[in-house]
Amino acid sequence: MKLGTRLIHSGHDTDPSSGALGVPLIQTSTFDQSAYFADPADGREAPRYDYARSGNPTRNALEEIIAGLEGGKCGYAFGSGIAAVSSALGIFSAGDHIIAAEDIYGGAYRILNTFFRRWGLELTAVDASDPEQIRRSIKSNTKAVYLETPSNPLLKITDLKACITIAKEAGLLVLVDNTFMTPYFQRPIELGADIVLHSATKFLGGHSDVISGLAVTAAKELGKRVYAVQNGFGAVPGPWDVWLVIRGIKTLKVRLETQQATARFLSRRLREHPKVEAVYYPGLEDHPGKAVHDGQSSGAGAVFSFKTRTVEQALGFLGRTKLAAAAVSLGGVETIASYPVRMSHASIPKPERERLGITDTLIRISPGLEDPEDLLEDFEQALA
Ligand SMILES: *Cc1c(COP(=O)(O)O)cnc(C)c1O
Repeated sequence: MKLGTRLIHSGHDTDPSSGALGVPLIQTSTFDQSAYFADPADGREAPRYDYARSGNPTRNALEEIIAGLEGGKCGYAFGSGIAAVSSALGIFSAGDHIIAAEDIYGGAYRILNTFFRRWGLELTAVDASDPEQIRRSIKSNTKAVYLETPSNPLLKITDLKACITIAKEAGLLVLVDNTFMTPYFQRPIELGADIVLHSATKFLGGHSDVISGLAVTAAKELGKRVYAVQNGFGAVPGPWDVWLVIRGIKTLKVRLETQQATARFLSRRLREHPKVEAVYYPGLEDHPGKAVHDGQSSGAGAVFSFKTRTVEQALGFLGRTKLAAAAVSLGGVETIASYPVRMSHASIPKPERERLGITDTLIRISPGLEDPEDLLEDFEQALA
């Protein structure tokens, strides 16, 4: 079946006990195991559920849904995207070396460079849009490559197949943060990745009403290692948050298609605006990574960024736009304009930011479901 159908039907069936179409929201911390103990001599298997940190039927439904959509064997849900990232990284040991793209999600870079470094994980940051930099950074203790494409906030493209080939030749695991694309547009496991990570807070949840994260492993053995961290470290989500993500995933296709069309429309129109210096969107014909992106994804996605000509214009835009919230995050039904230098990338020193192209004229847009003409009119008055 096509992904649009699988978004609705995969991972769970009608609830057998009630006939409900929706996944039952099982709000419990523990499960009665007395049936198992009634006759322990009869060799019965231990019950599937014993304690809700270890497993909960609502959470397991989401885990099966995301594993199916990404084409992996095992899925795991977490209390946030960064909890999914940290728990997946928790499979490594002191002395292991990780190669990460330098423009991965700021919070992921921060825990790698602080928390995990303190616990003995070595890190090399590379420009993964040049896969040879990965090859050159491989050492005898290198265990994994961590990638994200398109990157944030400049929508740079990494060639997943080229990077994965280099990693596999050296026997390394490949982790890919697929938050921006979602499995609707891009499935890294089909390209050879081992672990896919998500902030379900963004497009999967889709309504700016929940913080949540997911990890999917291609193989079962690797899944067991991630499960040991999920259960042992315990950064699990509550069933109500999980339920909201399951509901969000049902409408992923219609939201993404609409938001992508709006991103395409706004990026083209803004590019012609006299106060706009540049627009970054993989859907634009002259985006430098377009050919690679089109070869590994089925859509340009629904996030773009642009630079105004002056700082005053950028600040004026954020202050005057009426339809876009000036906020962190993306992928919700409301349009969000974020200002990386004061928000997601504020902790990076200015010279380093400038080197990466993250200037104080840069604004990232995540269009919501508003009418695109209204958004354009609002953006034009905000730039006027
Ligand atoms: C938001 C985000 C994260 C972190 O997710 P949280 O849900 O905020 O913890 C990780 N990766 C990417 C690409 C993100 O956009």
